[in-house]
Amino acid sequence: LLLAYEPVKRLARLHVNLNSSLVGVRLMYEMLDRPPSFADLQGSAALVVGPGEVRFDAVTFAYGEARALNGLSFVAEAGRVTALVGGSGAGKSTTFSLIERFYDVTGGRILIDGQDIRDVTLASLRDHIAFVTQDTFLFDLSVRDNIALGRPGASDADIIRAAMDANAHEFIEALDQGYDTPVGEGGGRLSGGQRQRIAIARAMLRNAPILLLDEATSALDAESEAKVQSALKRLMQGRTTLVIAHRLATVRDADRILVLDQGRLAEAGTHDELVARDGLYRRLADLQFRETSGR
Ligand code: ATP
Repeated sequence: LLLAYEPVKRLARLHVNLNSSLVGVRLMYEMLDRPPSFADLQGSAALVVGPGEVRFDAVTFAYGEARALNGLSFVAEAGRVTALVGGSGAGKSTTFSLIERFYDVTGGRILIDGQDIRDVTLASLRDHIAFVTQDTFLFDLSVRDNIALGRPGASDADIIRAAMDANAHEFIEALDQGYDTPVGEGGGRLSGGQRQRIAIARAMLRNAPILLLDEATSALDAESEAKVQSALKRLMQGRTTLVIAHRLATVRDADRILVLDQGRLAEAGTHDELVARDGLYRRLADLQFRETSGR
């Protein structure tokens, strides 16, 4: 049964990742057989993001019968990095899906800068959020067009600036047709690290104040990893970041770690605090976090 969820989850993530692309959105909703969006409440206003605080207030959510979140409360402080950790099925991906409102909470509420996300227009909500997975799907389009999905209609100068910030400009220029090079099906003509940097460039261009980052579980070679990590650091700068963490360096650097267990907040604190507590985090950390050459 768990295996059967995987493709659906992958599609859901793929979809989230494409939420600025009309083609992507249509296609994915059709594939997922889900309603394209919730109707905006009558008279709902656009989300107004100031500092960008994300607050979960006793959030409960179930996929049909199965409870995924069970009265989850936390605050992801504006401009800070909040890491989500927890065993498989703890509710990390569900937390992301609810922030982007792919589903509505069944109890409690989610506030962004004090506004219940059900009270604002869906378009304005999604405009303020970027989702980056390090296993990003790329379309068989040119490098330029793949980056431009972050903000359709962006100028060439903006695309190049985003690629520079993502440590991608140099390798792109070295491709046989530069920014016009087709990336191949699923980005197959690029290495894993290059694909990740294209995804980061896309998010740079999007320039949303709230960043949802799902770290890759697969390892890159040391040089690629270092380039990806330094690009991500730049991307997180000044944004409210929630990261589903798989790397030891990420949890060590996070301002706060939320340890989820069965849809609840089991522990919260910094890496050092949680290690000292010798509880669930300590056990997870021993099992889960990949030491990388990133530090
Ligand atoms: P992982 O680390 O394995 O990705 P997670 O912490 O992200 O896990 P979630 O994917 O949020 O956990 O899952 C929380 C619970 O909800 C689990 O019990 C899971 O089986 C269930 N679940 C997740 N997605 C769906 C879905 N689309 N339909 C039904 N149940 C789901």
